[in-house]
Amino acid sequence: MEAALIVRMLEKMEIIDVNQMIEEFEKITKDAERVQSETLKKILEENGSAEYLQNLGLNGRTDLESFKACVPLATHMDLEPYIKRIADGDTSPILTGKAITTISLSSGTTQGKPKFVPFNDELMETTMQIYRTSFAFRNREFPVGNGKTLQFIYGSKQFKTKGGLNAGTATTNVYRNSQFKEGMKGIQSQLCSPDEVIFGPDFHQSLYCHLLCGLIFWEEIQFVFSTFAHSLVHAFRTFEQVWEELCTDIREGVLSSRVTVPSIRAAMSKILKPDPELADLIHKKCSGLSNWYGLIPELFPNVKYIYGIMTGSMEPYLKKLRHYAREVPLMSADYGSSEGWIGANVNPKLPPELATFAVLPNIGYFEFIPLRENIEDQVLGMEPKPVGLTEVKVGEEYEIVVTNVAGLYRYRLGDVVKIMGFHNSTPELKFVCRRNLMLTINIDKNTEKDLQLSVEEAAKVLAEEKLEVIDFTSHVDLSTDPGHYVIFWEISGVVNEEVLQECCNCLDRSFIDAGYTSSRKVNAIGPLELRVLQKGTFQKILDHYLGLGAAVSQFKTPRCVSSANNTVLQILCNNVAKNFFSTAFSGGKATAEDTVQ
Ligand code: AMP
Repeated sequence: MEAALIVRMLEKMEIIDVNQMIEEFEKITKDAERVQSETLKKILEENGSAEYLQNLGLNGRTDLESFKACVPLATHMDLEPYIKRIADGDTSPILTGKAITTISLSSGTTQGKPKFVPFNDELMETTMQIYRTSFAFRNREFPVGNGKTLQFIYGSKQFKTKGGLNAGTATTNVYRNSQFKEGMKGIQSQLCSPDEVIFGPDFHQSLYCHLLCGLIFWEEIQFVFSTFAHSLVHAFRTFEQVWEELCTDIREGVLSSRVTVPSIRAAMSKILKPDPELADLIHKKCSGLSNWYGLIPELFPNVKYIYGIMTGSMEPYLKKLRHYAREVPLMSADYGSSEGWIGANVNPKLPPELATFAVLPNIGYFEFIPLRENIEDQVLGMEPKPVGLTEVKVGEEYEIVVTNVAGLYRYRLGDVVKIMGFHNSTPELKFVCRRNLMLTINIDKNTEKDLQLSVEEAAKVLAEEKLEVIDFTSHVDLSTDPGHYVIFWEISGVVNEEVLQECCNCLDRSFIDAGYTSSRKVNAIGPLELRVLQKGTFQKILDHYLGLGAAVSQFKTPRCVSSANNTVLQILCNNVAKNFFSTAFSGGKATAEDTVQ
């Protein structure tokens, strides 16, 4: 009796104190300005000996004025030579005081190739702090019980750089870190799948086993997670294909022959036992669903929420996710990047479309380049003037600049955020888009968000036919004169050509940027082209990125593929089933919508 009590107490001690965590967060956010300058001071003290800072003449100074005066804004390209030396094995203090021993590969979906960024224990600690903070707020509203979680996470391949440093995606570095497992226990997020599944060398086999583990522990599953919503939708779409095979495995207690990796087979054999009753139950549940609506709560009746990044380029997957989730709340996860975390979702009750991220003032030093005010400076080629964390204005958009604990100083992340309000004195941000304009031919400017809105509009036409857009991307085709936008769609079934022609026209009409519509009217931009892809094309693109060392956990479909990203463009172009050119603006037949702007 006494022993059991002690065990329970010990178990309790491992779980973080949610109230204390929230209290700490309140404290640091009430005093965000001071916490920011202390954080900067600490970063500069610890890394004062770094060659990068020394060369800039900082001379050990740690105050904000000296920092801003000496250290210029930097992009990844500026830091690449330093990072390369680190990766090649130079252990002198280059960007940090303590030598860097691990490199993260950012997903690099924008450039088409992964970027190297430094990773260290300090960055790991800030990651755990973000996880703990958002868990505390989440758990206050939607407490999870004792049990397990179904997390579609995957370790990408780890390799050694030329200089012998471990390199992998940031998520892989996090999952492999010794703090990870303990950290997950602390926030009641223990995984139902064994390590061998997470770190398996073949993503398709790992996904199959994640699903199988979820089913085996179906009653215990408290929430379902993946880093980005894309992998959640991908996982349940896969479930639709393999569910009967999963049932057979459970019925017979024998793992499907599709799983060939010995370590995964060995690990799965420890948890997979013949259970005909469970197999029947799952079979019955699945057979009773209409078009898989409500699949997640049907399979996992004790699930409290579905969790993962659902904002930004993940928004297009929400519709499908809601379909699978039925009444189970979708909760958008935090905001960060391989270069470091930025903010936590502390308002978990908000739907993902309204999710904001409160910046943690003690995990890095943050600056914000106002986008509106700096347009003139940028035209004149002057360096933009960022403002501090507590100086941002509600309603304004900024490019975010990060000084992190792993050797990046005044680093332009390339993300645009909008200030939605404040939590105490720290801003609550909404992710807007990547800074780089995606679709532009002449005076037109369309961002990822504009593309998303246009696709949403046109997808409504498709929805009338009970079909959906599985995934999409775009390309600016300058090989024609004039150049034109190309939108690639993979759709869930077959539909007649008139419908697709209407979708194409609708896409064209739905880009409402004045530069675009005026160029279209005078044919300075040619008719938009919709290219419908063969089924499975986006899977090929995913496989291509995995081959480059990317991880499914961090995968984001590139929303615009430039000619520089030749392989992906080739995959797209080689898999076009049909194409359509918009007639929306053709010869004097401008519709009412065309002329409103
Ligand atoms: P990675 O390069 O794989 O580290 O991805 C980081 C990028 O993913 C960020 O710079 C953002 O563009 C995007 N991202 C990360 N978190 C979010 C979020 N919560 N909402 C929208 N986009 C995000």
